Amino acid sequence: MNKAAFLDRDGVINRKAPEGQYVTRWEEVEFLPGVASAISMLNRAGFRVIVVSNQRCVAKGLVTTEEVEALHKKICRELADQGAVIDAVYFCPHEAGHGSGHESPPCSCRKPAPGMLLTAAKDHQIDLHASWMIGDSAADVAAGKSAGCRTVLIGRIDNSAAAAPDFVAQSLLDATQKILELDGLSLRAEPE
Ligand SMILES: [Mg+2]
Ligand SMILES: [Zn+2]
Repeated sequence: MNKAAFLDRDGVINRKAPEGQYVTRWEEVEFLPGVASAISMLNRAGFRVIVVSNQRCVAKGLVTTEEVEALHKKICRELADQGAVIDAVYFCPHEAGHGSGHESPPCSCRKPAPGMLLTAAKDHQIDLHASWMIGDSAADVAAGKSAGCRTVLIGRIDNSAAAAPDFVAQSLLDATQKILELDGLSLRAEPE
């Protein structure tokens, strides 16, 4: 069995777009500081690094599935050039379901549902209890917890959040350093 670090995309790997806007084009991708170092550390510590991202911009018709996939390829290639390997990317293209004026019931993959993590666990033989979900929203924490992972919230705890993360971190690099410490894995960050 493998262990995974599940990463949210926007707000963890790249700067997220202003409220109500979406990162759909390469020109809009701004990597957050320390991300390549952090992913490289996770690689060396034996974690599968798997991105799990809600992209309802597809359901909204702002971008196609193929365009999102092409964008992810580019993001992965750029990080790989810096020695940071993303093993797989999963995204939910669906609308939020109830309350959005949409008739169809919510899908099983849009976080806070754990569907993407469960699918990835099957595809990559992952022990979810040995894995971590790292995200910047309550939905990420909830998805991680439902899947049986430990969780890290990047940013601040929203008091309305039902699920508390295992810890709060300032960035992916900060989260990674704490995870390696907690799991008894020692690695130093390499300069970017
Ligand atoms: Mg996010
Ligand atoms: Zn979905």
